[in-house]
Amino acid sequence: MNVFMKKKFNGDGTCRQFLLLAGYVVKRRILPIILAAGIGAAWMEIQSCAETQKDREIQTCTEIQENIKTIAENEDLSENFYITEIHEGDEIFERINRRSYQENDNISLDELRYLKIQHYDFEHEIQEGELIVNEAIAEDCLDIFKQLFEAEYEIASVRLIDEYWTGDGDTTDTASIEENNTSAFCYRTVTGGGNLSNHALGLAIDINPRQNPYFSYSTGEPVWYHEGDEIYLDRDAGMEHVITEEDLCYKLFTEYGFTWGGSWNNPKDYQHFERKGQ
Ligand SMILES: [Zn+2]
Repeated sequence: MNVFMKKKFNGDGTCRQFLLLAGYVVKRRILPIILAAGIGAAWMEIQSCAETQKDREIQTCTEIQENIKTIAENEDLSENFYITEIHEGDEIFERINRRSYQENDNISLDELRYLKIQHYDFEHEIQEGELIVNEAIAEDCLDIFKQLFEAEYEIASVRLIDEYWTGDGDTTDTASIEENNTSAFCYRTVTGGGNLSNHALGLAIDINPRQNPYFSYSTGEPVWYHEGDEIYLDRDAGMEHVITEEDLCYKLFTEYGFTWGGSWNNPKDYQHFERKGQ
């Protein structure tokens, strides 16, 4: 501090004193702060680099995990979604013979395919599913059910109609619908008529039938076949599992060239998708 006093008497001392004082303050007070700030900044920089590096490592790690997951999921899909032929005497044949499959002149065993799939049920649990369709639509059906699964689309039940066998095709179909079962092939006539159904050729699929009933309009007024169907007459009430043109099921099936029974005037068969023979 003495130095400053001396400088003050040298004429231009004010400035020098100020500078010296500034220098002193800088040296004694600010410099440590600057040094501390500098060290702090450097430390922050190192930390930031370390964080960035860590983030990169985490990111890379996450990417690898996601890739593994995707590969695993794809492997799972091919393991859980597949098509097999049906041969006389094999396990599937024994389950369907003289039930959904009858010896006939319209469809042979080698024109049918067994599909193993997975689906989400109404509790959003993953379930095994199986259905039989015509070979002409087998690959497309497998793709559709894969996409429904990936979108976590809920289907109550997908079991062979033979699980509900009552003795004939028509009443078995009724029993399967009562249980809200989704099914395809069944060698039977059309509902309410004598002609062969497209289900008999494995070219039609009924999805979530309780929420998507069959309504006949032959008399002008709707007629239904299962108790409680009438609440599903209104298709725009926002009820769950109701197939409309906004529904993924509708979008996928129509994209693959299927016709929707909900587009017909009479009957309105909201559960039904079919594709005519190739
Ligand atoms: Zn149908």
